[in-house]
Amino acid sequence: MHTYDPALTDLVLGSLRDRLSNRPTLNHPGEGDKLGRALAGLIGPESKDPAEVLRLWTEQLAPTAITVDSPRFLSFVPAAPTQAAALFDALVSCSSIQGVSWLLASGPIAAENQVLRLLADLADMPTAAGGCFVSGGSAGNLSALVTARDTARRRRGLGRYDRVRFAVSDQAHSSIGNALRIIGVEPFTVPNRDHRLTGPALRAALLADADPSDVIGVAATAGTTNAGIIDDLAGIATDAREFDLWFHVDGAYGGAGLLAPSVRDRYRGIEHADSLVIDPHKWLFAPFDCAALLYRDPSLARVAHTQDASYLDALHTDDDTQWNPSDYAHHLSRRARGLPLWFSLAVHGTRAYSDAIEKALTLARTTASLIRNTPHLELIREPELSAVLFRRIGWTAEDYSEWSARLLAGQTAFAAPTGWEGETVARFAFLHPETTMEIVEEIVGTMA
Ligand SMILES: *Cc1c(COP(=O)(O)O)cnc(C)c1O
Repeated sequence: MHTYDPALTDLVLGSLRDRLSNRPTLNHPGEGDKLGRALAGLIGPESKDPAEVLRLWTEQLAPTAITVDSPRFLSFVPAAPTQAAALFDALVSCSSIQGVSWLLASGPIAAENQVLRLLADLADMPTAAGGCFVSGGSAGNLSALVTARDTARRRRGLGRYDRVRFAVSDQAHSSIGNALRIIGVEPFTVPNRDHRLTGPALRAALLADADPSDVIGVAATAGTTNAGIIDDLAGIATDAREFDLWFHVDGAYGGAGLLAPSVRDRYRGIEHADSLVIDPHKWLFAPFDCAALLYRDPSLARVAHTQDASYLDALHTDDDTQWNPSDYAHHLSRRARGLPLWFSLAVHGTRAYSDAIEKALTLARTTASLIRNTPHLELIREPELSAVLFRRIGWTAEDYSEWSARLLAGQTAFAAPTGWEGETVARFAFLHPETTMEIVEEIVGTMA
């Protein structure tokens, strides 16, 4: 099983080449029964011909995955890994890099940290900022909030069972609420203003509360998942300083906009973040799973996250230049998952990234005008980033679901409806640089 096998290598690399060279389609969800029959008896005590197993994969399993990197995939937050990033990911997998510690992976970690530094610079965070790559925005938010909680407890002399709260808007991503529940911190929900968390609203909520002293932090969003709204980061940062709150910024989706000159201004205040999450597997064109987690003062994360055990002693030294990614999040063993982005950034340069991100922003703006000029459609709000919310006048929730199902059945697009202020509406999330206005017009044409 561990001996180099040229035939197996050619077989799998051939399949890899096919996937990269064929324009991704969308495909259809599979049926449990049929998949069960296809897989029945596959894994047993005896060996199987790899070509046969790969054929089962190619013919029966792979087509049931919706290709989220299709230019016609416009739901949730799409993905569009560059070819360079996807290929390098395969190499990372074949390299058995244990990204846990400097001792085991110094070069790979130095390269990952080069990317983290680039992101910190884009956000104007201080030179001491640092962190690690984790599996996703959810994991990043959780690890950042653990650091926030532990730091506040230590600084305020709080015990494990003392009540602490964290300010959030109801527009924050579901993973923020989940993380708070997991770590035993109560949400302090601040009423938003037109779906945006603002400094004045946060201040008013704190002053109106009977005892706001147990509010230890605030989670802002730089690009809400549904509508791409960037909170009032500068205003929130000012309050955070005044009320001694940890300032977390969730830029899982929108953080990539830091690279886009046309929207960079809207992130003013992000430079004050105590922790920041950006998902390269979303709008920075990296393959799953890749999220960047940055701290203004990484030593606080180390206190919260470093695992201590005799069998780990060899990983930890007093040398500050030896960076152990495992010390900055809730994880230990890890893929060096920042490397595909590192390779692609080095190969293409940051300008290509800025251009690709601007492309989605332009597409969102052009789509907004198309909707404004189409009598039976109504734009819900001007897009701030690359998500466009709109309604088809007269449609019910069922109409939207049928439309969405029809689009997928015809392989025209994947465009799932979403909820907005209690109403079902249509939503496009742009990200793929090869999504064109022709594709958008074709989809919008099906709503007549
Ligand atoms: C997608 C998203 C997340 C969750 O990220 P995962 O990588 O899916 O775990 C968190 N916050 C925001 C704003 C997001 O858009």
